[in-house]
Amino acid sequence: MQQQDLILAIDLGGTQIRAALADPQGMLLARAATQTRAEEGPEAVIGRIIECAEQVLEGVERTRVIGVGVGAPGPINPWTGVLYNPPNLPGWEAVPLADRLAATLGLPVYAGNDANLAALGERRFGAGQGMDDLVYMTVSTGIGGGIISGGQLVVGARGFAGEIGHQTLEPDGPLCGCGQRGHLEALAAGPAIARAARRALQEGATSLMAELVDDPEHITAETVTEAAVRGDAVARQILERAGFYIGLGLVNVIHMVEPQRIIIGGGVSQAGELLFAPIRRTVAERLMSPVYRGVEIVSAALGDDVGLLGAVALVLEMRNAE
Ligand SMILES: [Zn+2]
Repeated sequence: MQQQDLILAIDLGGTQIRAALADPQGMLLARAATQTRAEEGPEAVIGRIIECAEQVLEGVERTRVIGVGVGAPGPINPWTGVLYNPPNLPGWEAVPLADRLAATLGLPVYAGNDANLAALGERRFGAGQGMDDLVYMTVSTGIGGGIISGGQLVVGARGFAGEIGHQTLEPDGPLCGCGQRGHLEALAAGPAIARAARRALQEGATSLMAELVDDPEHITAETVTEAAVRGDAVARQILERAGFYIGLGLVNVIHMVEPQRIIIGGGVSQAGELLFAPIRRTVAERLMSPVYRGVEIVSAALGDDVGLLGAVALVLEMRNAE
């Protein structure tokens, strides 16, 4: 086998830690995963990240590894790799994650917000190949984003740019996970979709959703999608509403950064056309001018590996920039 460069990719999530060894083409050659068990605090979690890293590095000559990429739930400073109080990692006040990993692994470590990394991953290996202006949006438990403009990831003055899920669409709207009101995330992410479904059932709507769960409290966005796919009108209307708000959010994004393409990933995007049709319709109806009409809105291509491939892409970007 050729002595090719290798990259260690780490995807730190609120529930799972995943690591992989990859080649520069994005082929994942070895993998390891474990539960995050975030409630045990940063020290224990960092220990588990290192265990996963050591597992995929076993038998590999360290000198072949050009860098380590780490994707973490933001906010994270992309230059220092310090993580600041991510909502799903309790106790991470200001943890120098990149420095800690670099010191133990003896390798250069590059870190970034997971949605930003996903944008880099989709651009290099997925639905945004060859594009210099694109926006990635993930719709799952929350709504995150990554903006690439003129070939560069937009990180902002202190590294916290790209929070497209936290734009205000309804000034007096529902409370968002961040504490503000009426943000896109509070109106269209998975929990908002589930909440709308529970409310519809409480108000007496007749829907297949009631038959898909033993208790309305157990309804998730997945339940809504399943019922919608099977033709349920109430479920379809809920996805339509979520798509409407996502479309409004994208109109703002298009007016500000005018991407060639918008890539939507995350669990909720699995609803496919039931969500994409109202998104595209809303965007088409609300753009300020027909000049923006060429923006394509497509599904993400990388699926569950987007976090790892984003970390690989980050290392390749950083190494090229040096
Ligand atoms: Zn918010």
